[in-house]
Amino acid sequence: MLELFSSVQGEGLLIGCRQIFLRLAGCNLCCAYCDTDFAPSAHCRVEQQPGSGQFVLWPNPVALPMVLGQIRDWLQQAPGAHHSLALTGGEPLLHGALLRDWLPQLRGLLPVQLETNGTLPQALAELLPWLDFVAMDIKLASQTGVPTPWAAHDEFLRLAAQRCCWVKLVVGPGTATTELEQAAALVVQRAPAATLVLQPRTLDHRCSLSAAELLAMQTVVAGLGVEVRVIGQMHRYLGML
Ligand code: SF4
Repeated sequence: MLELFSSVQGEGLLIGCRQIFLRLAGCNLCCAYCDTDFAPSAHCRVEQQPGSGQFVLWPNPVALPMVLGQIRDWLQQAPGAHHSLALTGGEPLLHGALLRDWLPQLRGLLPVQLETNGTLPQALAELLPWLDFVAMDIKLASQTGVPTPWAAHDEFLRLAAQRCCWVKLVVGPGTATTELEQAAALVVQRAPAATLVLQPRTLDHRCSLSAAELLAMQTVVAGLGVEVRVIGQMHRYLGML
């Protein structure tokens, strides 16, 4: 585990919801725009009080009873404040065995949202019974710098459609219309009830696309029959974790 803290969700369809974030180490991708330090660490950072921004270090590996105790403590300190638990990374599905062990009890405390790059369908299948929300990426080659893993995304989305799920596309300068069309077609085919979120890259603390460019992308996706939202990274503007 890398971090346990309380904040407000800054992306996707649960934007604005207060969540407890459990962040795990490691990732199976290498996106050009990645700004997340997901390297495994001998210690993890745990917020002292929910929302305080003050952290203590716990040695890894962390045992589940410690995590459960901390979350229960926060839920008692701030009754009703938290909407759900966000599993994030890195790529949390790299920790399938651990999550199979942890999720039944974690989900007894709060509904669970998985944030994932959408490339490990087998791991997802084993955890679906304990997931309430799945926020998956479709990784566009124009932004990541590596080919889009369409086959993995296809299989993943087919499974994620069994839950409340949405698909995030990180878009920016160079995003091709053909990429948007292929992603929208996949959503229509595999998860027609899912919303597609266009998330513009943040470059130098600013949105990397103009309003006109974003609206043109929205028009392409909406025209293919997909429910679409344009949502920036709100937590950055709010200065939150
Ligand atoms: S999937 Fe996410 S964590 Fe992994 S390299 Fe890409 S942006 Fe970074």
